[in-house]
Amino acid sequence: MTQSDPHHMQFDTRLMHAAAPDPPIGGSVVTPIFQSAMGVQPPEGPAEGQDLHDSIRYIRLHNTPNHLELQGRLASLAGAQAGLVCASGMAAISASLLTVLQPGQHLLVSKELYGGSHAWIHGELARLGITSTAIDGTAPATWAAALRPETKALYLETITNPLLRCSDLPAAAAFAKEHGLVSLTDNTLASPALCRPVELGIDLSLHSATKYLNGHSDIVAGVVLGSKELVGEVASRLTLLGGCLDPNACFLLTRGLKTLSVRIERQCANAQALAEFLSDHPAVERVNYPGLPDHPDSEHARSWLSGWGGLLSFELAGGEVAARSLVQAVRIPAYAPSLGGVETLITLPVDSSHAILSPSEREAAGVGPGLVRVALGIEGQRDLIADFAQALEV
Ligand SMILES: *Cc1c(COP(=O)(O)O)cnc(C)c1O
Repeated sequence: MTQSDPHHMQFDTRLMHAAAPDPPIGGSVVTPIFQSAMGVQPPEGPAEGQDLHDSIRYIRLHNTPNHLELQGRLASLAGAQAGLVCASGMAAISASLLTVLQPGQHLLVSKELYGGSHAWIHGELARLGITSTAIDGTAPATWAAALRPETKALYLETITNPLLRCSDLPAAAAFAKEHGLVSLTDNTLASPALCRPVELGIDLSLHSATKYLNGHSDIVAGVVLGSKELVGEVASRLTLLGGCLDPNACFLLTRGLKTLSVRIERQCANAQALAEFLSDHPAVERVNYPGLPDHPDSEHARSWLSGWGGLLSFELAGGEVAARSLVQAVRIPAYAPSLGGVETLITLPVDSSHAILSPSEREAAGVGPGLVRVALGIEGQRDLIADFAQALEV
């Protein structure tokens, strides 16, 4: 290792340089897009000691130069041995859970879940004979009561959507070790800039890279981070499932990733300012943001989260009618699902992330019809606050 080895540098430096090809391919400062389905194989057969699989370059094997640079960089940022990029966040989640669980086994799973994960776990996995019990990710003392002899994994979300609860990841890592479970967390809302679950002892950190990692709302992608062995198993499964990321999307994600720290810093500041403004406003009944003093988890979660992210949700005293009127009256945020992009978006989770759930499932998840979710972008703070102020007067 040389002194300039980027792996020993600060997070913000590694965003630019970790796992970059050395020397640069073709002398390019930015690694070009390798839009080639396959690479040439040595006609004399694999080199001594090389397995046949490693000698094949093919997009579905996640091993073009674009994949290798991106996966190496993401692993470095997460403090993980290995990384895998996937066609979507759901591809990362589904391939990971299919890898760590067999039919007949049981999963402990956060009661607050992204809608697609909820549908995958309670619908598709259940169909395959993999059962689950919902637990409160913020209350580790309650988890042991849900264990069964066939329990094999624990699945949490680092920060939940849309209520912004912070799962106790250090307790999850310890609990999983004690009971022989594989621990997984969906780290999408925090990103490695705010939380690095693998460094806390979590086995797999999963992301929808569609959100903060890419940051520009122009691709769909997913990431799996963890040990070489476990990520290798997920990669083998994903190779067969076929959920590979295209090299063009790898290129865009590598580009978007470079500004992760500066984007998140602004998004956290914008979210904090809007949360404070809303919580002082008479038309607002309740604001969910861990940066506010009345949030139930922030005191404790400070030890594993270095910021609270760019997402917040709130309820208006006027309920659903007032919420529908607000989302029509704001001028800057587009009414759209998703989060983590540079532009501010607003949505009612009942129309977006939680549309796939039944009304009773939504009620159990604490997502009422009048809940408004805002995903802050990087626009000017004064303009955003003024926009919400005028929209609340309407
Ligand atoms: C968006 C999202 C997903 C799904 O990711 P896709 O890239 O849309 O497949 C999973 N988990 C969370 C927390 C998300 O916000």
